[in-house]
Amino acid sequence: MDLQALIDRIRGRISAEEDRGDVATYIPGLARIDPARFGLAITLADGTQVASGDADTPFSIQSISKVFALTLALGKVGDQLWQRVGREPSGSAFNSIVQLEAEKGIPRNPFINAGAIVVADVNLGNHQPREAIGEMLRFVRFLADDDSIFIDEDIAKGEQDTGFRNMALANYMRAFGNLRHAVDLVLGVYFHQCALALSATQLAQAGRFLMLDGRLPEQGRVISPARARRINALMLTCGHYDASGDFAFRIGIPGKSGVGGGILAVVPGRASIAVWSPGLNENGNSKLGTLALQMLAEETGWSIFRAAST
Ligand code: GLN
Repeated sequence: MDLQALIDRIRGRISAEEDRGDVATYIPGLARIDPARFGLAITLADGTQVASGDADTPFSIQSISKVFALTLALGKVGDQLWQRVGREPSGSAFNSIVQLEAEKGIPRNPFINAGAIVVADVNLGNHQPREAIGEMLRFVRFLADDDSIFIDEDIAKGEQDTGFRNMALANYMRAFGNLRHAVDLVLGVYFHQCALALSATQLAQAGRFLMLDGRLPEQGRVISPARARRINALMLTCGHYDASGDFAFRIGIPGKSGVGGGILAVVPGRASIAVWSPGLNENGNSKLGTLALQMLAEETGWSIFRAAST
């Protein structure tokens, strides 16, 4: 299969789409992004890289950072994390507060905002926010093997200025004793991780460890195979909030979205895929990014539900 020709064809079809969804407008740094942008990058298990469109333009990865933050937190506290965060799909929006009262401040999963805020609290550990943010940036640079990856301070400031819901979620969990640190310190970490800027090419590289059972060819083992599989399982069941079922149905591979319009998708043993199309659907997931992944999965046959013998 000529993968380059295939993704160029997908880019062509996506560029012809008129309904591109709506870019996130809650902060100026996201509101000014052109919805016509589109990037698609794939790293295969053997290290081959292919890319099409604006695949080298850094974009705000937003909630995709929750995957890397979770990996870091599991490295620090292991399975104890699951006493403070659940592992079930929420069936609610990413920034919903409704379940937190009934479930006593324990968020449903690490990929909704409330769960990611608990994860940020774990990653803050005994550090100052600045150190925890630095650790996060170093980790993502290490995973992608790319020291040019940066945090967009303008985006981080925008998150801070408008993060009233996240402050509410954090305060609410703190009232239940599920945050150890002061709310503004934890949110400092969370807002900066959301502001990580990666291109599709860099993001596909950063996701390789999840395609390769937790081990990178040059850097060695990042996490155990069992942990990599579980993170993939959470991406499949919770990575797209209340549209996670639809994503699993249409695409059939684990994926994590962000309101910057990016999606990281992982085909275990085969491919790490990053797509960027800034317009969102009603669930806050990239509208055409999802469509591009659906086309890619259909054309390649990539699916975690495919019989191994075919
Ligand atoms: N920074 C965004 C928020 O906290 C991230 C949400 C997302 O990407 N879904 O609201």
